[in-house]
Amino acid sequence: MCGIVGVWGGSITTEASIFAYLGSYAQQHRGQASAGVVSSDEEYLYQEAGVGRVREIFTEERLKRLPGRIAIGHNRYATTGDTGACNVQPLVAETPFGRVALAHNGNLVNTSSVRQMLTERGVLFKSTTDTEIILQLIATSKEETLLAALRKALMEVEGAYSLVVMNAKELIAVRDPRGFRPLCIGTLADGGHVFASETCALDLIEAIHVRDVLPGEIVQVYGDGKNMYCSFLPGMERQRACLFELVYFARPDSNVFGHNVYVTRKAFGAQLAREAPARADIIVPVPDSGVPAALGFSEVSGIPIEHALIRNHYVGRTFIEPTQSIRHFGVKVKHNVIRRVIFGKRVVVVDDSIVRGTTSKKLIEMIRNAGAREVHVRVSSPPPREPCYYGINTPTREEYIANKHTVAEICQYINADSLVYLSYQGMLEVAQKVPQGYCTTCWTSIHPIRIL
Ligand code: AMP
Repeated sequence: MCGIVGVWGGSITTEASIFAYLGSYAQQHRGQASAGVVSSDEEYLYQEAGVGRVREIFTEERLKRLPGRIAIGHNRYATTGDTGACNVQPLVAETPFGRVALAHNGNLVNTSSVRQMLTERGVLFKSTTDTEIILQLIATSKEETLLAALRKALMEVEGAYSLVVMNAKELIAVRDPRGFRPLCIGTLADGGHVFASETCALDLIEAIHVRDVLPGEIVQVYGDGKNMYCSFLPGMERQRACLFELVYFARPDSNVFGHNVYVTRKAFGAQLAREAPARADIIVPVPDSGVPAALGFSEVSGIPIEHALIRNHYVGRTFIEPTQSIRHFGVKVKHNVIRRVIFGKRVVVVDDSIVRGTTSKKLIEMIRNAGAREVHVRVSSPPPREPCYYGINTPTREEYIANKHTVAEICQYINADSLVYLSYQGMLEVAQKVPQGYCTTCWTSIHPIRIL
């Protein structure tokens, strides 16, 4: 997971970095480990980055140190490599094409073999990220142009990548041939160009969403910055858009892979209500991720929604905390229940996913302690079983509760009166309203790329 943004300002933009900063702000949900912005005044690159969240890193002074019409930004949520300072992106390196900065969303799957090949050639790596191998392939390239070097580098790597790449005079955006991760193109009010993981970043800077970068497409902006030049990586692959982006990861106000995320999640909830109705007095969504699905469930079932679970927004995602015991405590810190609303009721709890089962178990305990008569759990995606190799931060195979237990056992473990997940077919039916191929590895264990 990670968020990327690239900007080439138009006729009145003097500081593209402000847009990159705001875009990263809008994409904060895609990664909270670190953030950075690199800008160019068409002569030099300037870089400001740090560990933590966008608002903690970028002071007014730091933003002032990022001049120029071209900028890229990155929010990092560590998948490959640790969260340390050396892995903060955009990564910058000296290359035959001047200093080049690169920001990556996704995860490469042949990192170790390429890394070894580069190490044997004498390359010294500065970070432990998979991203650096792309930059080092560019740095050691014999090609004539940055575009050609990038293209060649991408032919060496396998996996998921949406990238924004820049040197002092060029900005390039690319999506891997399977299109695992989203990447959209927008136009600024002054005619400038923007690339972003999600359209919510475009909305904030009042850019218009023109279209998505297509799988395997390379879009380049250079010269006077007025035009975009598009080309494709060689070889066609079936599209494998990450369906988990629609289930959980992207912001509901974004459009990804041709879908509005909120509308899709609502449709998952509606489908779930058709597949697994429940006799209940109220629906309680798990905030925030379960809210759109709960609305869909309510529309179909006619059961009213009560926001009886309240989330404290000042704690991080409990999912990413290190040990199981802390995670249990984390759920309590994160949510509280409104006893008055719950007492004596038959409740349907709607969430988007159960991963380890920790969240559901704790929430149901709280809801029961608040006097609920019955607690039925409805989950708006199927049980995930397989770790993600393509850029979503997921637990190991052993940690997925669905790998150790049947649905009936999970129901017992979380102490629900009933538990039903959205069927795989039902999920695909909703998602394929925009016809395209999806990566569904986390549910099916079928890999679109051979993992070595
Ligand atoms: P768990 O307690 O492990 O079952 O986590 C389930 C909760 O984590 C659900 O409320 C999901 O919305 C959320 N979730 C699901 N996948 C992820 C992920 N990859 N990263 C962070 N949170 C997640």
